[in-house]
Amino acid sequence: MLLISPSPPLVAIIGGGPAGLMAAEVISQRGLPVHVYDAMPTLGRKFLLAGKGGLNLTHSEPLEQFLTRYGDRRPQIEPLLQAFSPQELRDWALGLGIETFVGSSGRVFPMEMKAAPLLRAWLRRLRAAGVVFHVRHRWLGWTADGALRFMTPEGETAVSPAATILALGGGSWPRLGSDGAWVPLLQARGIGVAPLKPANCGFDVGWSDYFRQKFAGEPVKTAVLRFADFARQGEFVITETGVEGSLIYAVSARLREEIAANGRATFRLDLLPDKTEAQVAESLAKPRGSRSLSSHLQSRLGLKGVKVGLLRELVPAADFADPTRLAEAIKGLSVTVVGTRPLAEAISSAGGVLWAGLDEGLMVTAVPGLFCAGEMLDWEAPTGGYLLTGCFASGKAAGEGVVKWVEETLS
Ligand SMILES: Cc1cc2nc3c(=O)[nH]c(=O)nc-3n(C[C@H](O)[C@H](O)[C@H](O)COP(=O)(O)OP(=O)(O)OC[C@H]3O[C@@H](n4cnc5c(N)ncnc54)[C@H](O)[C@@H]3O)c2cc1C
Repeated sequence: MLLISPSPPLVAIIGGGPAGLMAAEVISQRGLPVHVYDAMPTLGRKFLLAGKGGLNLTHSEPLEQFLTRYGDRRPQIEPLLQAFSPQELRDWALGLGIETFVGSSGRVFPMEMKAAPLLRAWLRRLRAAGVVFHVRHRWLGWTADGALRFMTPEGETAVSPAATILALGGGSWPRLGSDGAWVPLLQARGIGVAPLKPANCGFDVGWSDYFRQKFAGEPVKTAVLRFADFARQGEFVITETGVEGSLIYAVSARLREEIAANGRATFRLDLLPDKTEAQVAESLAKPRGSRSLSSHLQSRLGLKGVKVGLLRELVPAADFADPTRLAEAIKGLSVTVVGTRPLAEAISSAGGVLWAGLDEGLMVTAVPGLFCAGEMLDWEAPTGGYLLTGCFASGKAAGEGVVKWVEETLS
């Protein structure tokens, strides 16, 4: 039986992650009644998981550089960050009693490197401001007359608020609540959605059994990865099927698009960034006497472990006998990736609700009173605090959008 809520809230927000909670804050601050619904038994689960990695809240680089991180979506994200900048995000956290610091890479973290204290303080403040939370409420779509359908432990209910914000997240780590099940629901309503794709994800290479068994889980420390105009020094990890980690995430959007276009993508690794190719070739050409090539590589160049494993895995055996060819491989080892890891394993999602169907307050123009915010919008960014900053800022924009819309249409 469908229970109809007798006193619907003025504003319903579905999704209690950073974007939905920020929207709830803005709306409650203007004195409007707002209820937040979430499928999970507790709120902000992905935010808490981000806290396990230290909670990289935002980045301290100048705004102009910060905005470049959103790539093609800069025009859409820029107004959101002009209204809620990375510095304002840090000030906001401080308002909750959470001091932040700038790490050596320019990334910004809470002093405690955790999400839980921030989330606890925030939920306390939202409750005090009158925000009502409904957990274990899974949104199922709309009834024929446009009410929101929820599955709850007591059965299905329907709610008809004046305005709704969807802040349902992307499709990564679905066990934390954001499973992308909203995509067909919005499409059925005529709302344009670009398919969700893995972003900041790992890739499959297809290692030999020997390499996989010996090196899966090993970090490759300090290599330079080059792909098209991308070149960066960093670290990554060998996985059972391929590669993942911060250096791979940074180039993941480009690799993903190359694979989509050509079925594979080949990047180059410089395994000895501090030496020139000529220096490497010269060292390799020195007589090695009775020493094995492995101990020659280690004693002359400091190359060992997983880096030598990568060379053995990917360089033709004949090239090992030729110092020039081997030096070329050490300075530009070709690694071919043939697929992304599944969306469920990715840090974030690309794709989502198309900006063309939204106004500047993030309202779906075809469905007046329906707004969207957070990772479910069609944008992506690398790790570095850009994801959370974008989610908070879009939550604020949608909250402001609702307030304006309610004032204009209902008063
Ligand atoms: C391992 C990991 C580490 C990360 N670390 C960082 C980091 O350090 N810095 C950073 O910037 N970003 C990080 N991110 C990304 C960041 O956590 C997300 O981009 C951000 O949480 C998205 O916020 P959101 O509010 O849009 O969605 P979410 O946080 O995903 O919240 C969406 C909410 O909607 C609810 N929901 C979904 N569908 C329904 C439904 N049908 N009915 C009811 N409720 C529903 C979910 O339960 C969830 O609570 C990390 C992500 C992962 C996976």
